[in-house]
Amino acid sequence: MADRGCPHLDAIDSVKQPQIRECAECVKIGAQWVHLRTCQQCGVTLCCDSSPNHHATKHARATGHPVIASAQPGERWLYCYPDEAFCEY
Ligand SMILES: [Zn+2]
Ligand SMILES: [Zn+2]
Ligand SMILES: [Zn+2]
Repeated sequence: MADRGCPHLDAIDSVKQPQIRECAECVKIGAQWVHLRTCQQCGVTLCCDSSPNHHATKHARATGHPVIASAQPGERWLYCYPDEAFCEY
């Protein structure tokens, strides 16, 4: 794999895809979301920072899981929170 600028992105060789296209936390509280992200550590799909509840970022902060992938159809990118590193795949 090409050098992606952080060890977390470098460690990913198969990208976890969303199991379901909904935010696992928003569904519980009846909230709306804008875009979805999938945690590459545990596979949970949560909402993006454009969504009111920022569940993907809260999950990363709370768990230390560093990398998310876009769960939007047609988007193929990864983002590492601790390194603020972004790459397409
Ligand atoms: Zn990283
Ligand atoms: Zn959410
Ligand atoms: Zn996770």
